[in-house]
Amino acid sequence: MTPEDENFLRRAIELAAKARATGDAPFGSLLVGPDGDVLAEEHNTVTRDGDISAHPELKLARWAARRLDPATAAGTTMYTSCQPCDMCRGAIERSGLGRVVYALSNEQLAMLKPGGGWPRVPQEGPALFEEARVPVEGFYR
Ligand SMILES: [Zn+2]
Repeated sequence: MTPEDENFLRRAIELAAKARATGDAPFGSLLVGPDGDVLAEEHNTVTRDGDISAHPELKLARWAARRLDPATAAGTTMYTSCQPCDMCRGAIERSGLGRVVYALSNEQLAMLKPGGGWPRVPQEGPALFEEARVPVEGFYR
């Protein structure tokens, strides 16, 4: 982690404070491209938007996948005030972004957020393999 990384993390922390000041959960993130330019910034808008997926990391991963060519995405870093949750991590992995730098770890957040987390939802499966494979088979080559 370089002093430049820490400066971009400070911007992410500012965005987190802005989210809190506007009534949302205190999380902020930004994308910094290969040339060191800030490409996009977001903060949490779960409450404002009534959207459980309105995490800044997820919004920026979607933005990157739509707007950046693969080489630019691979050279882009996401700076985020907190380590991405599992939902956002999945989107980041699909986005083509090259790197994530975070301030608070999930463990540090858990210490600051008593009673956090969500109940696990039971999943059942696999089932109906012969039927379910039909639309999939041959799609991936
Ligand atoms: Zn998230």
